[in-house]
Amino acid sequence: MSETRVVRVPLRFANSYLVIGRQTIIVDTGDPGYSQGILKAIQANDLKQSDISMIFLTHGHIDHFGSVYELRRKLDVPVAIQRIDEPYLLEGIQAPLYPRNTAARLIKAMGNDMQVKKRYDLQAELVFDDEMDLQEFGVDARVVSTPGHTLGSASLVLPEGTAIVGDLLIHKHFLFGKPCPPPFIHDKRKHTESMHKLIDMGVTKFLPGHGRAIDLKEIQSRYVK
Ligand SMILES: [Zn+2]
Repeated sequence: MSETRVVRVPLRFANSYLVIGRQTIIVDTGDPGYSQGILKAIQANDLKQSDISMIFLTHGHIDHFGSVYELRRKLDVPVAIQRIDEPYLLEGIQAPLYPRNTAARLIKAMGNDMQVKKRYDLQAELVFDDEMDLQEFGVDARVVSTPGHTLGSASLVLPEGTAIVGDLLIHKHFLFGKPCPPPFIHDKRKHTESMHKLIDMGVTKFLPGHGRAIDLKEIQSRYVK
């Protein structure tokens, strides 16, 4: 196995990640209008556009896939998403937001009807159900379905106990504060099962869609008995 390096690319509110192995996978693309930030990060890490093998989207929310349409015009690589969330990507709309509290209800009122206008006929070439091995895309890792936040959420799991988890976990104040479950959870039971699934797979470092990395120690009182 070759060594894999993960670079966080903060794009205003959301993170994109570069997973760099023999080739490089882009995970999530931020809100619409942020493709340049990702292209700059590729350059800044001494990578060429031809090193990119695919784009993996953790779920069907616009702050995670909004720039994929413009990015795909620059990079001729397949786009991967879990099957249940694929329709939101194709339509450029939000997967349903299920608020857990009052603050989330207010955010929902603002974010619910968002739509990405310029979609340039994007197709998702790699639609998966449970999991997908990423060896053929040049990275020793796999994506596994981790539903709960949305029903089609998925995470990229690296062999050394790191996972890029989208909005499976978030910080209390979005970009900072204590780690906690996200403000929107479509299915609470599935969300808890997904957390246990990753912990059982040996994940100890969670790279979320917003803000800094989260260590298992910070959340284990909630999830580890
Ligand atoms: Zn989300």
